[in-house]
Amino acid sequence: MPEKNKALKEKLLSTKKNGWDRISAADAKKIDAYCEAYKKFLNDGKTERLCAQQVIALAEKEGYVPYERGMALKSGDKVYVSNRGKGVMLAYLGKKTLDEGTQITAAHIDSPRLDLKPNPLYEDGELAYFKTHYYGGIRKYQWTTIPMELHGVVALADGTVKTVNIGADQGDPKLVITDLLPHLGAEQNKKPLSEAIPAETLNLLLGSRPIGDEEGGDRVKLAVMQLLNEKYGITEDDFTSAELEAVPAVEACDIGLDRTLIGAYGHDDRVCAYAALRALLDLDKTPDKTCVCVLADKEEIGSDGVTGMQSAAFDTFMEDLCDAQDIPVRVCFEKSFCLSADVTAAYDPNFADVYEKRNAAYLNYGIGLCKYTGARGKSGASDANAETVAYIRGLFGKADVLWQIAELGKVDAGGGGTVAMYMANRNITTLDAGVPVLSMHAPFETVAKLDCFETYKGMKAVYEAE
Ligand code: MN
Ligand code: MN
Repeated sequence: MPEKNKALKEKLLSTKKNGWDRISAADAKKIDAYCEAYKKFLNDGKTERLCAQQVIALAEKEGYVPYERGMALKSGDKVYVSNRGKGVMLAYLGKKTLDEGTQITAAHIDSPRLDLKPNPLYEDGELAYFKTHYYGGIRKYQWTTIPMELHGVVALADGTVKTVNIGADQGDPKLVITDLLPHLGAEQNKKPLSEAIPAETLNLLLGSRPIGDEEGGDRVKLAVMQLLNEKYGITEDDFTSAELEAVPAVEACDIGLDRTLIGAYGHDDRVCAYAALRALLDLDKTPDKTCVCVLADKEEIGSDGVTGMQSAAFDTFMEDLCDAQDIPVRVCFEKSFCLSADVTAAYDPNFADVYEKRNAAYLNYGIGLCKYTGARGKSGASDANAETVAYIRGLFGKADVLWQIAELGKVDAGGGGTVAMYMANRNITTLDAGVPVLSMHAPFETVAKLDCFETYKGMKAVYEAE
């Protein structure tokens, strides 16, 4: 290439590079420690309830206290509110008053899974099963023939709540959903993927040993119910008021000979939730503006409901903070910025045809910004304005955050949404950004460690903005 063109190219054209060729030696060293802690966070919080407990434990360690309405608040105070044990909102009161706005990061801590139906227990073919109803967008065929564990609560009419954990402790038995053997799969093989495993066949195998004498049916079911009664003091009717979630019984682990990737259940969106939380907890001095971290539930089913991002629980929390300074919450919202922290699709060479290479997010290229999500003609997207993207470019540039900008896939290939639009609808300037994920929504998803760490740095840059 003529020298003149080389110089011109460097000056005018984009020079995107793999993060490993750009990362500072100091940051390269920090990645592993960060990711080890993240893996523990994943393993200890495979449901939104368990994850919320982890969040609160970590926050309390750093001096966060439960907020109570009417509490006097001053700069430097650290408070949190648990939204019914399934979501957490945290605030670190800044030097500036709330009429100057807040710096928010919002992620979700629910993940796709299989919930038990309200009448789950039955016996068929002298085997006991739980009926499930899938939660979120799953590819059903991926959830068979893998070990599963069960978490959740059974709430009793007298107000007591039993915590259920089957399969997570060392030596515990696991549950499984069976699939057809290939020898008898001729008809199933002809079906499209979306139909090969009907939702009503996602039944968890629970046991096979009948109880008592040979009279009467349902003896395996009865035996399983007896075991559950011994362990939790519950009866069949108590499933009525239960939230029991079957999740993959797999621990987060390194992937790849070079250990640059992490495989786990629930990266979407705990990888961003952890980054948002850790960044807040790691702030070493009182921030300029108040920093808020929202970890919501129900994103995977549309952010509806009392623990979802559309719930007034968030507005109430913010109004309470504003009341302490006699500031209308609308004044605070219109000056606030929110980074909607959710995962994006990573380019997968095995399925290249659904990506548009020039606008895909790549592993090891850093946190992925999304100006808009949505489907078709950007339907269902908050579509951040240019100034907002520029603002983040500026912040990330100053903080040396490695970032990329991408769309979810090819136009009209599909689409997706995040909590961004619900924040933007509140008159909060909002932009999407998060970690690129391979096999998103599968029982075992893969992310790159470098991207996890850069996302953490990105969250920190948002909090530390002046
Ligand atoms: Mn998500
Ligand atoms: Mn998702």
